[in-house]
Amino acid sequence: MTPKTKNKKISAIKGTKDILPQEARKWQRVESVARRIFELYGYREIRTPIFEATEVFEKGTGQTTDIVIKEMYTFTDKGGRSLTLRPEYTPSVVRAIIENRLYLQPQPQRFYFMGPMFRYDKPQKGRYRQFHQIDIEVFGEKDPAIDAEIVEMAARLFKELNVVDVKLLVNSVGCRKCRPPYLEALRRKASEYSGQLCADCQRKIVTNPLRIFDCKVELCNEISRGFPNIIDYLCPDCKEHFSRFCSHLDLYGIKYTIEPRLVRGLDYYTKTTFEFVSSKLGAQDAVLGGGRYDDMMKAFGGPEICGIGFAMGLERFISVVPFEEEKEDFLYLAHMGDKAKKTGMELARFLRQNGIECLIEYKERSLKNQISRANKLGAKWVLIVGEEEVERGRYQLKNMDTGLQEDITKEEMPGILLA
Ligand code: ATP
Ligand code: MG
Repeated sequence: MTPKTKNKKISAIKGTKDILPQEARKWQRVESVARRIFELYGYREIRTPIFEATEVFEKGTGQTTDIVIKEMYTFTDKGGRSLTLRPEYTPSVVRAIIENRLYLQPQPQRFYFMGPMFRYDKPQKGRYRQFHQIDIEVFGEKDPAIDAEIVEMAARLFKELNVVDVKLLVNSVGCRKCRPPYLEALRRKASEYSGQLCADCQRKIVTNPLRIFDCKVELCNEISRGFPNIIDYLCPDCKEHFSRFCSHLDLYGIKYTIEPRLVRGLDYYTKTTFEFVSSKLGAQDAVLGGGRYDDMMKAFGGPEICGIGFAMGLERFISVVPFEEEKEDFLYLAHMGDKAKKTGMELARFLRQNGIECLIEYKERSLKNQISRANKLGAKWVLIVGEEEVERGRYQLKNMDTGLQEDITKEEMPGILLA
């Protein structure tokens, strides 16, 4: 400890937070529902390292994005390499696919992933420096039916967790062919307003004018509403893809709004983009964002395989999930005296082996005290193990909800407790 930090309170880093047990229960619930749904659609989990060579994200996320320009946690390790804590998942997955030659396996391939991401964002409600995403990716499927399928899968996740008040926005950002002429038109128009745009947007006119639509400054937003729409510039292929995507959504009965300004924050998107926003979230209202990235694998030096995916922000999502309060369902084992403590330890092991959650505490306490602790902790059952019970081989089982007490043997316990 250096003298400077000696008396300073140690606390979590700004923009990070602890997920305490009660809150963690909600996370587990969301994660397990997501896992189950994704597996039903044929997705398999992929886990990649938390840090990568910095160039993975420079290449994958894009040099002109907010993430690469200002939000990356980049550091030099002891070997002088530039490393970055992952700010998003897709580049890592693409790197892993190429490195492990997964593209040699039958396509399409579907992956999912859950874990922490790191961005040097300005900490505020809904915006953290370590946050978590649930992410899915599909590689090798060109058909717009997959675009609709992943949206439908996201909608299923919302439905199963009773999330309402979400709205789906969709758009197409074109492709290598139709985007350049659009960008030119956009650049021309934006230049007319250059003086009124924020410094960031003035830079974007040159580097990537699409990003202007992403600006959070109100005046820039207002001005850019009058800019040309990409939808009017799509080539026949992109136009067809978009209209089929929309008609598949209609087939599923999924409502959406076409939002021509939805360009999303990353450089690699082609064709479909979409976002789910929640009216319950305030300023940071995007819960889930996704889109197609047909050129990304190639740009990474891999084969020409198209991709599509989405990422959901878990902090934001969990804050809009209405959770029912779950009642605890465990047994508190109360024991009195040395002999009973030993029998209690054995009984606790037996119960746990049989899939019954059992809490035993080792400090000497009176029966009354133990029952009151069981109450406070929310136990559903109390098993009373005293000297007399040990002698008889019969124990008192108390149901804390009804107050009823039964006299039972060890062998009878699983049958009663698991009923
Ligand atoms: P925003 O416009 O809010 O900055 P983004 O375009 O940077 O979002 P994506 O890269 O698409 O976000 O990430 C997908 C999702 O991850 C977002 O919709 C959001 O729910 C969540 N997310 C992104 N950045 C943060 C953050 N700093 N803190 C918490 N959640 C975040
Ligand atoms: Mg962002």
